[in-house]
Amino acid sequence: MFIEKTCKENNPNLIVAKFGGTSVADYQAMCRCAQIMKNNSANRVVVVSASSGVTNQLVRLSQADISEDEQIDIINNIRKIQLNISQHLANENQLNENIDNLLTELAIHAKNQSNNYSAQIADTILSYGEQLSSLLFTEVLQSLAINAECFDVRQVMKTNSLYGKAVVDIEQLKSQTQALLTPKLMNSVIVTQGFIGQDGLENTTTLGRGGSDYSAALLAEALNADHLAIWTDVVGIFTTDPRITSQARAIDEISFGEAAEMATFGAKILHPATLIPAMRHNIPVFVGSSKEPEKGGTRIKQQVESNPTYRSIALRREQTLVTVKSPAMLHASGFLAKVFTILAKHELSVDLITTSEISVALTFDNPTGSTQALITSAVVQELEQLCEVTVEHGLSLVAVIGNKLNATSGIGRGIFETIDDVNIRMICHGASANNLCFLVNEQDANRVVEKLHNTLFV
Ligand code: ADP
Ligand code: ASP
Ligand code: MG
Repeated sequence: MFIEKTCKENNPNLIVAKFGGTSVADYQAMCRCAQIMKNNSANRVVVVSASSGVTNQLVRLSQADISEDEQIDIINNIRKIQLNISQHLANENQLNENIDNLLTELAIHAKNQSNNYSAQIADTILSYGEQLSSLLFTEVLQSLAINAECFDVRQVMKTNSLYGKAVVDIEQLKSQTQALLTPKLMNSVIVTQGFIGQDGLENTTTLGRGGSDYSAALLAEALNADHLAIWTDVVGIFTTDPRITSQARAIDEISFGEAAEMATFGAKILHPATLIPAMRHNIPVFVGSSKEPEKGGTRIKQQVESNPTYRSIALRREQTLVTVKSPAMLHASGFLAKVFTILAKHELSVDLITTSEISVALTFDNPTGSTQALITSAVVQELEQLCEVTVEHGLSLVAVIGNKLNATSGIGRGIFETIDDVNIRMICHGASANNLCFLVNEQDANRVVEKLHNTLFV
């Protein structure tokens, strides 16, 4: 495990460890994580995701169009996943009582939700995955004689009320952490929940899918941790998603900037916001596999020895391309401002933009299972008051990430010659030194990444 010099004020005896869904999927997986905790006494705060698959089921449970039978099935499925873990633990009965209490609350929320949908109840429903896994992981640590205590992160992770994508109050997080969490670290290892927070009305909120990485990074910052360790199901960050090509290889060392670009452009390994607190506070991040911790992993830090032209390729699926076209836009001012006002009103954030004289193409991240605002017919109708609107789905965003991409000749040729048989829907290049990205049809996406990877990395 790497330890490196960081800010003077960082606490050398404090690592925040985050275990993702597959790492806490079942009892054996939890035991491997507990062993990682035990092997390094600096691991003092642990942030857990929901057990694998649970949040997806909760997303379904939080929807409006769900029958009572389906609600019962989902809650039973979740119960089964958690009881398969508790059955291995010494105080199984007490744990099962706690699990059933949480599931009874969950059933009530689900019933209310199907009667009268609200985004606020949706977030409450989604929070149960992390509530359950943190309870169980605390017990697993205790079974290894680690003095572990479960801490409700909502005491410190205060957010606004933007359900599904709540924004954390960093100042409150810092002061509440120091007041409520730091004193507990003297005697205990703290287990807490990723992904969830609480707004000013004491309603539960969530930080967006995959948000546990971000929660862990925020806690590492608030605690002045020496580093953040993200334990997942792959042995680090790869040159591209290893599920797409077996040629992908793990990267030993990568800069904050490059890793942040990867996360932003869809490398699922890290939630897009994870590196913001780490960069702000210069906290190095380690990414490794909880299944194979001995294999090491990727170190993400401020300065790295090599800054290659090509570092990685990220792929983000389920992109929506919206083209707004208005001849009145020619030589007119204020058109774009009106478009963006409508998008802002619906809390939609635009990813990429290209323009021609009379049209503007905008991309949106629109994944299934998202808890965030999506392009709806209401948005389209409002835009149609201004201009002609075309919406295309089924697209993927490919991002080539590296260094000095805007100042190196031959980049465009190197990339597009390789995939000259593919229809490219949109290209963005030049705004960033660290990426060149473009949209392709979903069915071409894997082939494009594989071909590019073979050319740029092998
Ligand atoms: P966790 O549940 O631990 O948060 P995730 O499923 O969110 O794990 O992220 C890990 C997955 O990210 C890997 O299994 C891998 O398929 C995917 N992934 C995408 N891009 C990359 C990449 N560049 N390097 C490594 N993994 C990647
Ligand atoms: N459980 C949440 C999700 O699946 C958060 C996370 O795993 O990071 O999105
Ligand atoms: Mg994740």
